[in-house]
Formats: sequence, structure tokens, C-alpha cells
Amino acid sequence: MAQFGFMATSPDNPAYGISFRVLQYFHHLTNRCPQLSIQVFVKTLCYMCGTAFRSTYRSQFSNALDTYLEIQRRIETRLQTALGRTDRFWNIRHACIPCTYVLQNEPPLTFGTEIAIDGNNSLARMKRVAKEPNESGERESIERTDSRRIDDPMYLDRGLVDQFEGDLKSKKSKTKAAEPVSAPAAMETAPSPCPERWKNLADDSKKKGKGGFSETGLFLASCRHEAALAFCDMVESGEKFKYPFAVLNQLLDLLPGPILIGYDIGCGVSES
Ligand SMILES: [Zn+2]
Repeated sequence: MAQFGFMATSPDNPAYGISFRVLQYFHHLTNRCPQLSIQVFVKTLCYMCGTAFRSTYRSQFSNALDTYLEIQRRIETRLQTALGRTDRFWNIRHACIPCTYVLQNEPPLTFGTEIAIDGNNSLARMKRVAKEPNESGERESIERTDSRRIDDPMYLDRGLVDQFEGDLKSKKSKTKAAEPVSAPAAMETAPSPCPERWKNLADDSKKKGKGGFSETGLFLASCRHEAALAFCDMVESGEKFKYPFAVLNQLLDLLPGPILIGYDIGCGVSES
């Protein structure tokens, strides 16, 4: 079926196929509008084709999409290898040409890279739980284990991020070490009063996620030209300090320094 431009929905004796162009179109749509669900898209396709929607169409489309994306990732890996980009962090080191391309004999800048970090809840996802509560009155999770791995250093998985849970002290030294040694004296400020006043600067143990969500949002680092550099999911919690620490730990050695970091609760992080 692939020869004719269709992705089979099952490896053996497929009854249906999805056009590569439709899969590509859906991929681009969800990159721009993550709220668009597969079910809504498949229902639209059924309407356009004059076919009654069946729930199996949704899972078949999902299977075809997963296979299509895996093929795309493998093609991208082979392409990068053919171009000699074997450095695992090549994408981060070259994410933004104005920021990361340093000319020979270029005069040193006050700040080699300016980045901003913050979390948002645009990509929050509801947690799947059992309809009926168990003996203790709690609804158990019925989330299926997802064994898929994304081998992209821009995306920090949960295991890597959790290494920074409750480990503020050791990370403090690393964050401090990244501060520009030649920062203008005018930027050195007195201790901020914010940590005692702002709720999002509270202790990590108080940053509970909003009820019902598995991923509560995304934590992202981008440069001043809005090129994404690193990101991770915020999982069943508010904006804990482990997220900025994990993201910064990934970036500090990869970008031209000194690095200026913008963060709306940076005063709290710097005091942690
Ligand atoms: Zn940039």
C-alpha cells in the first residue's frame, strides 16, 4: 500500500489505508492546534467521504499515525547521519543561527545567549481513571504504560526531570556557576521580597497539580528569537523547581555563554 501512497492500518492483511498526505496534514494541524483530537478529525474525514463513523476508525487512524511518525523519525535520523550531524545535541547547538553561530574572532558579547523559561498549561491532559472508586474511595489510574521513547535531547523525559526533585541545594551551585562572571554591577540586586509573597514561589511540596490532570502542562526554554531549546512535561504538579533546573542543566553547557536567563519567578530560583 505504501507504494501507492497509503499507510496500512495493520501489519497483516490491512482492510484500510490512510493517505500519507492526510497523515502529514493531520501532523501539521496538531502541531499548530494540539487540542484537535483524532476522533474529530476522523469524523470529519468520514463526513467528507460520505461514510458513517465507527469507533474502530479512530484506533486505526491512530495506529497509522504512530507508524508514520516513527518512519519520519527514522528518516530524520538517517538524514542527520548522512549530513555528518552525529553529535547527539546538534539540534540544540544549532537551534537558532543568530544565537548559536559564533563568528571567528567575534568580540565577546555581554551575554552570549539570552533565553526565557516558563511553564504553561496549554497542553494539560486529563488522567484516565477507573469509573468506580476502589475500597479506599479512590479512583485508580487506568493509564496504559507507554513504552515508546523519544530519542531527542530537546525533550526531557520524566525520569531525567525527577532526578532534580528535592535536590535544590546541589543544583544551586550549578545554576550559580552559570551566572555571567562579568555581569554589569547595576544588575546585582538586593534579595527579592517575592518568595514570601507569591504563591507560585511556594515550597515545591505545596505545588499540587490541578485535579484530574496527568500532564498539567509544558515547561519550555526558548531563545529570544522564539526557537525552542528544551522542554519537558509538568506531571501531576504545579510549576516545581525541578522543571527549570532540569531544563537549564541540559542547556548550560550547550549554548554560547554567558547566558542570560529570563524567568518570571527567577528571584525565587536564585534564592533556592
Ligand atoms: Zn535565538
